[in-house]
Amino acid sequence: MESLNSADARAFRDEVRTFLAEKLPPELRRGARRGTSVFLHPDIADAWQRILHAKGWAAPDWPVEYGGTGWNEIQRYIWAEEYARAHAPGLSPMGLKMVAPVIMHYGSPKQKATLLPRILSGEDRWCQGYSEPGSGSDLASLKLRAVRDGNDYVLNGSKIWTTHAHFANRMFCLVRTSSEGRPQTGITFLLLEMDTPGITVSPIHTLAGEHEFNQVFFDDVRVPVSGRLGAENDGWTVAKHLLTFERGGRYAPGLAATLEMVREAAEATGWLAHESNRERLAREAIAVEALRAIELASLEGRGPSDAVRPSMMKVLGTEASQRIDLLALEIAAEWQGSLDDAPDAIAVAMPKYLNNRAASIYAGSNEIQRDLIARVVVDQAA
Ligand SMILES: Cc1cc2nc3c(=O)[nH]c(=O)nc-3n(C[C@H](O)[C@H](O)[C@H](O)COP(=O)(O)OP(=O)(O)OC[C@H]3O[C@@H](n4cnc5c(N)ncnc54)[C@H](O)[C@@H]3O)c2cc1C
Repeated sequence: MESLNSADARAFRDEVRTFLAEKLPPELRRGARRGTSVFLHPDIADAWQRILHAKGWAAPDWPVEYGGTGWNEIQRYIWAEEYARAHAPGLSPMGLKMVAPVIMHYGSPKQKATLLPRILSGEDRWCQGYSEPGSGSDLASLKLRAVRDGNDYVLNGSKIWTTHAHFANRMFCLVRTSSEGRPQTGITFLLLEMDTPGITVSPIHTLAGEHEFNQVFFDDVRVPVSGRLGAENDGWTVAKHLLTFERGGRYAPGLAATLEMVREAAEATGWLAHESNRERLAREAIAVEALRAIELASLEGRGPSDAVRPSMMKVLGTEASQRIDLLALEIAAEWQGSLDDAPDAIAVAMPKYLNNRAASIYAGSNEIQRDLIARVVVDQAA
């Protein structure tokens, strides 16, 4: 299968479209359409993951030996498009898309055998312990201390903005094991269990009033050395490997589905009567098409180089999504009826707008991404 328009690709699209039409329960679809946050509530995401897991389609990006589907890149793109078009719930990426690839790359045979199947089935819920108060963009300055004591590390300090730590039973975490040399060289990557004594999860509420992330405190928390991924003081290498998966993603399929919801909402109000509004909606549709063109070009090995593409797509994708949120907010302001009866894009416009301000901050802020792009361009010019 070499192109999206080949006969094989069209047959594959029909197959996944039929599966989604038959197997996606309406209440999960509604939960996805009315989602307001970065990650859906686990009750929705986990229920859908069980259905996908039963079909063998929970992890299309994984190698077949660990339970992946064996689909090529074109098939995976078609899946992403049909998935978004059907408004299927997004699964939490922290297990499937973030920690799993680094376990595959750096994990011991035992770590792979015990952890990967539980990520695939959704039995384990993971959270990401990177950021600390004072260490966000400058992540290498992190201070959470891990001191070796026999077969354990003893952890003291805290992590912050830890999304869904209150739902997670496991965390992947960066800790400081040495203060010698460059800050990057004293960091270790640990996998730990959230019910370990000494861990306290303290909620942080968003502007939208939702409980999505937390500060996590560590008070003499003992983590077995066997929970380490990679070598001691080499956690920065593991973390950088993981970040490429955190940013890489596909943006156009999800944005196209959101834009369609916004268009439906616009039709239900008088908003589209104004030519300038129609133009603004069209401009966003063109921006999404442009993103799709870049994503398709990269499938064929064309387009921006791997050195800049994840950063570039993160900036373009998140900025488009925030502009679309603003249109939804404007359209919602014209709605006269009750929110219960409102089109989904109107019902969630306000909390979605507030929560999605974060999209240009997490996974490395957009300012930092621009900085990375500029450095590559300057290096290439030199
Ligand atoms: C919704 C949400 C969920 C998150 N989930 C998690 C999670 O699960 N786990 C986790 O570990 N972290 C998580 N984070 C934290 C996230 O990774 C950090 O917020 C991010 O790295 C930025 O760090 P900071 O908040 O400390 O801001 P700072 O680093 O203090 O930055 C503040 C501002 O200064 C700008 N800035 C900083 N340095 C530079 C520079 N060198 N050049 C130009 N501008 C700069 C930034 O762009 C930003 O606008 C989450 C954040 C959000 C918003």
